[in-house]
Amino acid sequence: MQLLLNKLIDKNKFWANHGKVADYIPELGKMDSRKLGIAVVDTGGKIYRAGDYKTKFTVQSISKPIVLLLALMDNGEEVFNKVGKEPTGDAFNSIIKLETLNPSKPLNPMINAGAIAVTSLIKGKTKEERFQRILNLFRKISKNPHMDINFEVYLSEKKTGDRNRSIAYFLRDLGIIHGDVEDVLDLYFRQCSIEVTCEDIANMGMFLANQGIDRESGDAIVPKHLTQIVKTFMVTCGMYDASGEFAINVGIPAKSGVSGGIMCSVPNKMGIGVIGPALDHKGNSIAGVKLLEDLAKELKLSIF
Ligand code: GLN
Repeated sequence: MQLLLNKLIDKNKFWANHGKVADYIPELGKMDSRKLGIAVVDTGGKIYRAGDYKTKFTVQSISKPIVLLLALMDNGEEVFNKVGKEPTGDAFNSIIKLETLNPSKPLNPMINAGAIAVTSLIKGKTKEERFQRILNLFRKISKNPHMDINFEVYLSEKKTGDRNRSIAYFLRDLGIIHGDVEDVLDLYFRQCSIEVTCEDIANMGMFLANQGIDRESGDAIVPKHLTQIVKTFMVTCGMYDASGEFAINVGIPAKSGVSGGIMCSVPNKMGIGVIGPALDHKGNSIAGVKLLEDLAKELKLSIF
């Protein structure tokens, strides 16, 4: 495994030249586009690391499936009164269908509109308590008790996030979210700014692969059927409007983020975390996707 990972990193590094780091959140534009790293965790807890696996990056949209888990634990399937279960074919930050769909609700929880609606459902008396509950779940399932926010990225997105702001106000107009829109956005920006490494997201993928059971203690942290819902969303919508192609070429539940991370969950087998900040035109790590295509073929990981 170690040799294979080293080989595939070397083979796929050049892809970064064909992509671009996201800079619509100014602070993300500072990332080094040439980096490519991977961590793989198996059911026994053995961890393999290769390339620039030490790179720190913000979790961004990889937070969406995890916050969805918490919202489902808090509210049950009532979550789906506010957000649908279908792929969009539109970009992750698209607003267009909110006006034309009937009933008017975001199509799924993996696009920004759906994720903002889901974040608004997290329970807690104060804003602080709500964020702490999100962070605690992240820390637990990543096995990293020190995980925290990257404050620069958080402030950068909060300052410039007018598209998400527009989406959120539109959602309140539709009656999907209630109360203080800026509070909901603040929580969403904070969850996106949690800083991770490949190993952290590989552990998170492993936790989902293990059906919500902590692989060390055997404790059920999240009910199995909720992890199944989340992994299904990862297959159908986890790579945005490239989810179909990814399902054919890689074939495992995955979630990408705009800072170049990809979290994968190979059911009952392994968690994989990848970082490669240069993105393709759909917002997925260009070298990361190529690396996963090769890895899935070599190890026959497709679930289909
Ligand atoms: N924080 C980012 C945003 O809302 C997350 C998007 C992403 O990772 N694709 O724009």
